[in-house]
Amino acid sequence: MTVYDSILGHKRQIEQLKRVRDGGRVAHAYLFYGPDGVGKELTAFAFTQALNCVGEEAPCGECEHCRKIQRGGHPDVRLVASEEELVARKLTQVEGRKVASRQIRREQLDELADLFRHRPYAGRWKVVLVVDADLMNENSQNRFLKTLEEPSPDSVIILLTSRPEALLPTVRSRCQALAFNSVPREDIVGYLNKEHGIEADAAEVFAAMAQGSLGRALALVEGEVLAVRNQVAEALSGMLDADLEDILGMAQTFGKSRPMALHALEIMEFWCRDLLLLGAGVNAARLVNLDCQTQLSQTAARVGTRSLVRWIEGIRQKRRAMDTNANPRMTMESLFLSMRSC
Ligand SMILES: [Zn+2]
Repeated sequence: MTVYDSILGHKRQIEQLKRVRDGGRVAHAYLFYGPDGVGKELTAFAFTQALNCVGEEAPCGECEHCRKIQRGGHPDVRLVASEEELVARKLTQVEGRKVASRQIRREQLDELADLFRHRPYAGRWKVVLVVDADLMNENSQNRFLKTLEEPSPDSVIILLTSRPEALLPTVRSRCQALAFNSVPREDIVGYLNKEHGIEADAAEVFAAMAQGSLGRALALVEGEVLAVRNQVAEALSGMLDADLEDILGMAQTFGKSRPMALHALEIMEFWCRDLLLLGAGVNAARLVNLDCQTQLSQTAARVGTRSLVRWIEGIRQKRRAMDTNANPRMTMESLFLSMRSC
């Protein structure tokens, strides 16, 4: 049992990383790319542990190096991320009313120079993990390119990104790329069931909404998504009979804050997609809200495909509007009014 065994999916990528380490052919730079929340960073940390592990089976998770890397205190390992991300992880603070930068700044990369100049202090390899590497602007990427072009011995750089296209081709071409795909739905269901004791019905809903991202599934578990989902279900089931008072009430519920509105809109889109699939006679196993089939079938029979397509278009349009800071309650009001009149 190694740290790798705790990672969901990505068996092929992990096998490749094991061969790299065991065969001593470690590349100077890696690019792990794929959707957010699928396990790129977990795998990168496990690989970092494996490179420095002194246990019997690497990464053992038990030896001094594995533990220090896990805790974030290993002298040869650096995590680079935007200030905003570092604040979110409680790894740094911003002074006073200063707003945390959403970019990886050039100075952060310059600070690595010292690490690259020395031999590893404690372990075998110096490792730099760059989280959301696409947050380096062109200027910073060019600065980083120098580091990639003049590799320091005993060092490995791992760039992580969900947007590899935002990296300069010159940066990409100097890294060995590893693609990380979405985690299969049944794997996420099994994990939520086994590790978090979530019942199969609910786990199915979380997994379907997470669309292959375990990180997203875990966030949904924390976010009381089922309660909101049930409110959404009730609102949409009764939409055709809603009067103005009902609509204003719903707009108040779902538009009470920006995060709530975004959350509700996302869930509404899943619900409407299910209605559309049911209406088209698609196999029920493909539904997100598998546990609500009866309720879905009843609504699908009443609303009709053409209106549903308009509902979905309306919801997507409002999601975009929320991105540009539209007022959440007004946005919901106008959405529900247009849905009822479909
Ligand atoms: Zn170890």
